[in-house]
Amino acid sequence: MKQRCISCGAAYPLSQILYTCPACDDILEIAIDVTGREAPTFECEGVWRYAPLLPVPLDKSVSMGEGGTGLHALRRLQQEFGIPRLFLKNEGENPTGSFKDRGMTVGVSQAVTLGARAVACASTGNTSASLAAYAARAGMRAIVLIPGGKIAMGKLAQAIVHGAEIVQVDGNFDEAMRTVRELSLSEGEIYLLNSINPFRLEGQKTLAFEVCEALGNAPDVLILPMGNAGNISAIWKGFREFHALGLIDRLPKIIGVQAAGAAPLARYLSGDLHECRISDPETLATAIRIGAPVSWLKALRALEESGGHAAIVSDDEILAAQRKLASGEGIFVEPASVVPIAYLMRERVQAETVVCVATGHGLKDPDAILRMAPEMKQAAPSLASLRSALGLA
Ligand SMILES: *Cc1c(COP(=O)(O)O)cnc(C)c1O
Ligand SMILES: [Zn+2]
Repeated sequence: MKQRCISCGAAYPLSQILYTCPACDDILEIAIDVTGREAPTFECEGVWRYAPLLPVPLDKSVSMGEGGTGLHALRRLQQEFGIPRLFLKNEGENPTGSFKDRGMTVGVSQAVTLGARAVACASTGNTSASLAAYAARAGMRAIVLIPGGKIAMGKLAQAIVHGAEIVQVDGNFDEAMRTVRELSLSEGEIYLLNSINPFRLEGQKTLAFEVCEALGNAPDVLILPMGNAGNISAIWKGFREFHALGLIDRLPKIIGVQAAGAAPLARYLSGDLHECRISDPETLATAIRIGAPVSWLKALRALEESGGHAAIVSDDEILAAQRKLASGEGIFVEPASVVPIAYLMRERVQAETVVCVATGHGLKDPDAILRMAPEMKQAAPSLASLRSALGLA
């Protein structure tokens, strides 16, 4: 395995600390040659089950049992949407409540392998929560830059309690990102763990492996949210590797969904933008409030190669989908996580097996729910009053 530039193809060893290609400045990926290779045997559960396909050895892993999340059949919704088999991969079941843990376990393990003293990131929430937890687990210093504007309280509480050093930056996410990158480049012992880091994406690709193992093959369609677009890139890489190893005999179509006020990828693809970036992203789905997706080129390739497409949903559609999933199927996920369901509520998808990726737990960001909650029923502590409040009188 080696690090490889996604544009010029230049290769670098895994042990070299790089965030972009020294030759052309584009981003890197981990290249694994699986062609002609026999499928490895997988042991244990979760992300590290796939250690033979990861760039860090199992005995170096900083782990909390991440991955191995449920793939839940959505029986009511599948009937409503006219899809024979509809599943939700619930990443809220990870240790810190989001899929970021899949990447962070590998990223922090790589930081340990490299002998770094600290790990750092800029984050709108879940990355900092996960980084803080895994750094604590590894006994390392964690530095978190939080952009100005709204951040979900649950995620901030996680970074605080795990002991991260939190710096609020007077700027948007993209500016915080640029600053923390400069810090890591100027301090060799601070290892940057934003999604630009290709080791994180290697952990995230295991979601695809789990879906394939659970279904016995790839689904026809996989739908997920796109923010910085690292996750779509990682998951597509996972499907391709399983396919190359002969473990699945087809590849899924990928549909990437963005929120209307933060949809640079979808708008760039539809020809509405000349560049894949917007300057003032806005959506209540803070985890995907991203104007300049770091992994935009990887994501475009995933969409194109899979025969899929990008789509846009509104904040109102997101809130409606969140309530529908929670009240109709018992699964509470955060606003960014529900964009695949919002998409299915509006668009008819003709496919036999569809998997939606729910990226993070609902308790991280309960604000919008509480703001829109209906008035509570009131009762005196008596049977008659309670019956009357419930309309049973
Ligand atoms: C990070 C995150 C996303 C976006 O993932 P990208 O890899 O940036 O596209 C979506 N949902 C949740 C809950 C997240 O934490
Ligand atoms: Zn290059």
